[in-house]
Amino acid sequence: MTKTPASTAALQLADKKHHAHPFTDPKALAENGSRIISRGKGVEIWDNDGNKYLDGMAGLWCVNIGYGRNEIAERVKSQIEELCYYNSFFMSATPTQIELAETISSLTPEGLNHIFFGTSGSDANDTASRLVRHYWDLKGKPTKKTIISLIHAYHGSTITGASLGGWPAMHKMGSTLQAGYTHIMPPYWFEFGRNQSKEDFGLKAAQALEDAILLAGADNIAAFIAEPVMGAGGVIPAPDTYWPMVQEICKKHDVLLIADEVITGFGRTGEWFGSFTYNIKPDILNMAKGLSSGYAPISATAVSDDMYAVLSAGGEISHGFTYSGHPVCCAAALENIRIMKDEKIVEYVRDVAGPHFQNKLQEFADHPLVGEARGVGLLGALELVRDPKQGEKFAPEKRVAIRCVEKGFENGIIMRAIREVLEFSPPLIITTQEIDLLFDRARYCIDEVA
Ligand code: PLP
Repeated sequence: MTKTPASTAALQLADKKHHAHPFTDPKALAENGSRIISRGKGVEIWDNDGNKYLDGMAGLWCVNIGYGRNEIAERVKSQIEELCYYNSFFMSATPTQIELAETISSLTPEGLNHIFFGTSGSDANDTASRLVRHYWDLKGKPTKKTIISLIHAYHGSTITGASLGGWPAMHKMGSTLQAGYTHIMPPYWFEFGRNQSKEDFGLKAAQALEDAILLAGADNIAAFIAEPVMGAGGVIPAPDTYWPMVQEICKKHDVLLIADEVITGFGRTGEWFGSFTYNIKPDILNMAKGLSSGYAPISATAVSDDMYAVLSAGGEISHGFTYSGHPVCCAAALENIRIMKDEKIVEYVRDVAGPHFQNKLQEFADHPLVGEARGVGLLGALELVRDPKQGEKFAPEKRVAIRCVEKGFENGIIMRAIREVLEFSPPLIITTQEIDLLFDRARYCIDEVA
């Protein structure tokens, strides 16, 4: 029997009554009702009233292979029939967990061969935070506890993720942890460095890391965490000079490097990991979103051989989640990776979609309201300003970027806003014609709003 679809009004009513939304103002929700999304195929999604949208954000930076892949549904179904659940606690493992750990190890940068599973980017960052501190305890350096991260960075919503992140509103809500976290200037040239060359500014931003280490004393610093390219915080690729110097500083001061590749992993930058794009050799690499293309909640923390040797000599690792390596999520991830390999999706981003996307993005560089167009692979951002020459910003109450996003919905495209930055992160299978459509409509929206 087919179910009659519920009316949008009925769904919105029930939603308002019972559904507490993440990152949503309940007052606005009560006034307007939510946008009910009911179906997706390829790069497109449909709302409950049948309106179609080109999803320029791949959901939340995650549906990399696009919506509606039946192969994943089949693989998940057969995994549920075979073994719906078993854990990896107390010396157990399932074949699917093992196969995925081995597969991920074959994709990560050299030496990152030990895979700890979770279910979200946030819990992966919790895992990394506990592991680096535990590592230093085992090395006989128990004061090395503080983790340095970047202003504007997003590392998740658990208390650790929000503490690592550099969002003041998140620090305020629920009193995130103060002790053990330090936030420094990010390599965000447009915001912090426009009076100098990008190369010089990259060195200055890296120097901010060394300054913070020296201020606290290297004996107190466990790790530095950053995304190869900051994603949700505004899509901020670092100047070329940044990562080489950051890595030297970490080595010099015995500070571990955690690459948060929750967004940049699995093809987004045109390589399997952003660490390849920027020649980063982290001690820990975290991944989530693109690992299963959002088809199932799964994350992984890849730990280096050197670190793992120390951790495993230290006895039981007292950490784990009921759903660490959930077999159904592992099956979804394995099928996602198979599709990515068979369809050469990473190569497609590197050679075709990424260059086309970046060319189209750069066409905004001389737009009268765009201060900077920046990105890498299929990640992009437009920094909206009132006057690009003077760098004069829009008054915050004008909410220009968010109004562009709203205009985008009216015109069948999905973008995202943070501050006055418009962000783009479409499914990796997007065609060049769809990229043209996305940016043509984005231009129309900016012109209409500003
Ligand atoms: N790290 C980064 C870089 C992210 O972009 C996100 C989410 O957007 C997270 C961590 C948190 O992931 P999750 O929402 O799966 O907990």
